[in-house]
Amino acid sequence: MDNILELKDLHVSFDTFSGEVQAVRGVNLELKKGETLAIVGESGSGKSVTSKTIMGLIPKPPGKIKNGEILFEGKDLLKFSNKEMQRVRGKEISMIFQDPMTALNPTMKVGKQIMEGLIKHQNMSKSDAKKRAIELLELVGIPNPDARVDQYPHEFSGGMRQRVVIAIALACNPKVLIADEPTTALDVTIQAQILDLMKDLQDKTGTAIVLITHDLGVVANLAQKVAVMYGGKVVETGTVDEIFYNPKHPYTWGLLSSMPKLHDHSNKLLAIPGSPPDLSDPPKGCPFAARCPHAMKVCVDHMPGYFELSETQKSACWLVDERAPKVNPPETIGV
Ligand code: SF4
Ligand code: MG
Repeated sequence: MDNILELKDLHVSFDTFSGEVQAVRGVNLELKKGETLAIVGESGSGKSVTSKTIMGLIPKPPGKIKNGEILFEGKDLLKFSNKEMQRVRGKEISMIFQDPMTALNPTMKVGKQIMEGLIKHQNMSKSDAKKRAIELLELVGIPNPDARVDQYPHEFSGGMRQRVVIAIALACNPKVLIADEPTTALDVTIQAQILDLMKDLQDKTGTAIVLITHDLGVVANLAQKVAVMYGGKVVETGTVDEIFYNPKHPYTWGLLSSMPKLHDHSNKLLAIPGSPPDLSDPPKGCPFAARCPHAMKVCVDHMPGYFELSETQKSACWLVDERAPKVNPPETIGV
């Protein structure tokens, strides 16, 4: 058992005016020590709900965890009390959100914000915590950390603020870091710098990362494994190479086709036509059937199970069944 984090058959729903929305429908995921797992999919696919559930941040009500286990070092986090979860969040698993401005307190010096966790969870003295805060600012690449430690968030640029957020997340040496769209709010050059930083920090600290993104381009240079989510389910999972070079699920094909190409300067983004399924009344068959150019009758009537393509790759698509017609991935795939 070398999984540091394992999700087993997780189901999460929300009560809404239009009924119960089944946001996460039977998700299984595995993360090993020091590894990066990317969860990709459009908004509404269930990826953020999955990550918030791991952190114990789903408001209940309207949220409900209907089934499943979230094993962190073999212990089920869903059985933890609020107090125990608070300790886990401060020390063992941290999260970086999309917008650094909402993650930071505008009225508090950044140094203080980094020091909080160190004083609370590591029992550090104030002066040791400040020293560590300066080290952390330096670690995440902020110039002049001795002076910067006493500044307020508004004195930092967007990219620098996200570095501060990362410093806070790493302060207590978490075993798992969950990054939900960590670079979406930043411009492209800064995005690349932040991703390089995360990769670099992971090499240094050995933290396992769950990277949540709608952008497969971000995945390629950071992750080892990918889980593609659609309609509250993981529809395909594999190593980065398997997902990029041998994808089997038409939704993965769609995502790859919609990636901007390295040598194509037309900036044409091919969106996948159609919209995601209504999860207050999810389809009984494949969630992608309404948008899939290859949908067959069986797809509409029966949910495909996982077909194992290798030790690491699984795809929930009827096309992989040996009785299905042979379909080639579109030519628009490729980097
Ligand atoms: Fe398309 Fe059918 Fe595969 Fe779903 S199961 S992705 S509808 S071919
Ligand atoms: Mg989201």
